[in-house]
Amino acid sequence: MDIEAKLQLVSSEMHLEPAEETPLTTHTPFNPQTKGPCGHSPAEWQDLTREQKRAMPIHMAAMPGGKRLPMLKTMLTTACERDCYYCPFRAGRNMHRASFKPDEMAKTFAELNRNGVAQGLFLSSGILKGGANTQNKLIDSVEILRHKHNFPGYVHLKIMPGSERDQVLRAMQLADRISINLEAANEKRLPALAPHKIFFDELLAPLKWAEEIRRTQPAHKGWHGKWPSLVTQFVVGAAGETDLEILSTTEYLYKSLRLARAYYSAFSPVANTPLENTPPENPWREHRLYQSSFLLRDYGFDLEDLPFSGQGHLPLDVDPKLAWARTQLADSPIELNRADRRTLLRIPGIGPKGADTILTARRKGALRELRDLSSLGIIASRAAPYVLLDGKRPAQQLSLL
Ligand code: SF4
Repeated sequence: MDIEAKLQLVSSEMHLEPAEETPLTTHTPFNPQTKGPCGHSPAEWQDLTREQKRAMPIHMAAMPGGKRLPMLKTMLTTACERDCYYCPFRAGRNMHRASFKPDEMAKTFAELNRNGVAQGLFLSSGILKGGANTQNKLIDSVEILRHKHNFPGYVHLKIMPGSERDQVLRAMQLADRISINLEAANEKRLPALAPHKIFFDELLAPLKWAEEIRRTQPAHKGWHGKWPSLVTQFVVGAAGETDLEILSTTEYLYKSLRLARAYYSAFSPVANTPLENTPPENPWREHRLYQSSFLLRDYGFDLEDLPFSGQGHLPLDVDPKLAWARTQLADSPIELNRADRRTLLRIPGIGPKGADTILTARRKGALRELRDLSSLGIIASRAAPYVLLDGKRPAQQLSLL
């Protein structure tokens, strides 16, 4: 099998792994004429079907800070000795598999990078001969890429279940971001998804080591003089877990381990797996989890602020921040000219940037009308029912705004 075909094969299911990427349709190619390993030039991508795009190993990735770059999202091998119930790569499933050696992966990516096809690398793997052995191969791939091919750019490296602490440290010295997928909300739910993964020892422990290393060792030992960011992923909807369980773990990860982001992947059944007859999860659930996760991470919300039902689920039909405001702010609106930043962030329509803009604008004079908010880029119609402007509820003549 030639390298291009092999790369496409090992990358074919990477849409199941949410990472930094945004949809391919937002891709701005560096060289539209260069053909990618898929055999298509970036300019041709626009005409491909959704299925064809999903098979592409190059994804447009949104970096922290907003920069976008084309990223090769791939695996070292699609062979795996584990048997996670949801996974297309599980042992024994009939499928074409392929593997790269570390030097082959490094060389392949370095060539793509030189040709302007890929500027970043997301590297994962199936597990063969144990997590530690597989982690060594992932680390070797990035070592060769960094030191033999002198690649200075973005690398997101997966940590395998069963990796050792020293391997986590070495990965952190090479990568810009590392991730360990928890998959399930907690130890109780994991066996329904991955019967042979061990929640605390194999999955949570590496996340804790990473944060402990960041806290206790000098940042200059990391790549680019700083330690990598840390992310994880949950499979949502196949283990009977509640939103409360998922967000409770998420809150712990944000507050205690300084997680950069939790990814939620609405379950979608894969043929010829034990969960093939389990119904797919409603994508709105994934969306509400992301919204709630950002409220926990960026808006100063606590878990108990979120509008869980008695069964521990978020409403699917309403934004969780709006649901909170309807019960907490409708009868006690917030005076926009006096509220501190944390309080401003509680108001629908006002995000971190909007709160900062309001604080700056207030220094020049009082905000008196909804049009003052609109001129600051605030979604005034969402904020209006929950605010006072100079002591008065605003007249909601929103059609004039
Ligand atoms: S260990 Fe990873 S690749 Fe292997 S079956 Fe489980 S999820 Fe799939």
